[in-house]
Amino acid sequence: MIHTMSIHCPHCQSKNLVKQGLTGNGTQKWQCDSCRKHFRLFCRYKAWEAGTKEKIIELTLNSSGVCDISRTLHINRNTVCSALKKNAAK
Ligand SMILES: [Zn+2]
Repeated sequence: MIHTMSIHCPHCQSKNLVKQGLTGNGTQKWQCDSCRKHFRLFCRYKAWEAGTKEKIIELTLNSSGVCDISRTLHINRNTVCSALKKNAAK
C-alpha cells in the first residue's frame, strides 16, 4: 500500500518546493521556490506550528485569559505571554 501526501507552502500555497536539508533532530526542511520562505511539515513544539500566534490573538480578542489560552492550545503560559507582548509592541 502506497501513501502519498501532497506538500504545499503554508505561506503562498505553492507546490514549487525544494528540499533544504535536515534539522538537528532529522526533520526535513523545505524552501518554497515562489516566495523563498522556509518551513517544516512537522513541528517539535505546538507553539511553533503555523497559525498559533493568530489563534492566541483571536482568543485574546474573545476575552480569554492567558491560562484559558494556554489550556485551550496546549502551550505554556509563558509562550502565550511572550506572544502577546510581541504583538503589543507592533
Ligand atoms: Zn511559498
